[in-house]
Amino acid sequence: MNEPIYVTQPVLPELEAFIPYLEQIWENKILTNCGPLHQQLEKELCEYLDVPFISLFNNGTIALVTALQALDLDQGEVITTPYTFVATAHSIVWNKLKPVFVDIDPITSNIDPNEVEKAITDKTVAILPVHCYGIPCDVALLQKIADKNNLKLIYDAAHAFGCKYQGQSLLNYGDLSVISFHATKVFNTFEGGAIVCHSAEMKQRIDQLKNFGIVNETTIIDASLNGKLSEVHAALGLLQLKTIDETLEARKKVDQIYRKLLQDVQGIKCISRLNMEKDNCSYFPIVISEDYPLTRDQLFEKFKVQNVFARKYFYPIMTDLEIYQKYSAETPQAQLLSQQVLCLPMYPELTIEQIQLIVNVIKSVM
Ligand SMILES: *Cc1c(COP(=O)(O)O)cnc(C)c1O
Repeated sequence: MNEPIYVTQPVLPELEAFIPYLEQIWENKILTNCGPLHQQLEKELCEYLDVPFISLFNNGTIALVTALQALDLDQGEVITTPYTFVATAHSIVWNKLKPVFVDIDPITSNIDPNEVEKAITDKTVAILPVHCYGIPCDVALLQKIADKNNLKLIYDAAHAFGCKYQGQSLLNYGDLSVISFHATKVFNTFEGGAIVCHSAEMKQRIDQLKNFGIVNETTIIDASLNGKLSEVHAALGLLQLKTIDETLEARKKVDQIYRKLLQDVQGIKCISRLNMEKDNCSYFPIVISEDYPLTRDQLFEKFKVQNVFARKYFYPIMTDLEIYQKYSAETPQAQLLSQQVLCLPMYPELTIEQIQLIVNVIKSVM
């Protein structure tokens, strides 16, 4: 039996390379509160990602919650996608705002701007789309809709690290973009995340909010959270940045091999990625249609028997979760995709032999 193949495997630097960073931390005894490594990582990320301002966080979820808080939204509705990870919707509810779920464009798996427009009411305060799988949303049209209706536009860009689209970083679109550095993401700091913003004033506000709302010893401006990233996490980020281009290159190869091997398999469609100046190939979702002999769930189980652990991502959609029942909405495209999608293992160290094995499982029932 082959070794188990999981849907992802984190990239890690050589352990020896990490030790000098730890020694530096032990030496200067600065463990957190935006220390030197934290500052250096912010600087290097701005340069690498080509974004003006970035605030690091201890994870992407707290960054999302804080991003919405930073925009001082009145109590109201936030239009978002049901086809996402729960953190997107949770961040809206944590801010005591109401999520309004609208359907997706099944080709890109991203929120459908026409559906966004239809859902706008006088209570709408913001739009929170997700660049699902690192595939860009219709950023131009969404911005136009936001401007026309005086709405804030915040992207959940958890999947979009390193993507360049239409001449700039995908993270530059909208008022704010939120990234995740979780272990399962393209760039990881074990746990971590960040908000990208466009002004020094906004960065200062976000930096205060991620530190309990503290402005100085006696002034606290908001009842906010502790979202700071520690020096150990920042150190790992600095090391990961050194090899990020090789990581992205390796992911692209895996993506290309899968596409080639799966191109003529009846009933299996690889979700296509838009033309980007730089892509991160962060996931490899396939859609299993009725033309394929097995259902998605049957294929998922068949993989398990072969020690391959794919992921139903995203399933279930938000509107099918008990906790979001009171915000239920008709989103048939999202529903259908979530029943047919399966993310295949995708990570830099996946070998050609492993990819071949995975593809053979798919083809073995034809
Ligand atoms: C991973 C993820 C998050 C949350 O990020 P964490 O760093 O794990 O808190 C939010 N949204 C989406 C779409 C994600 O995939």
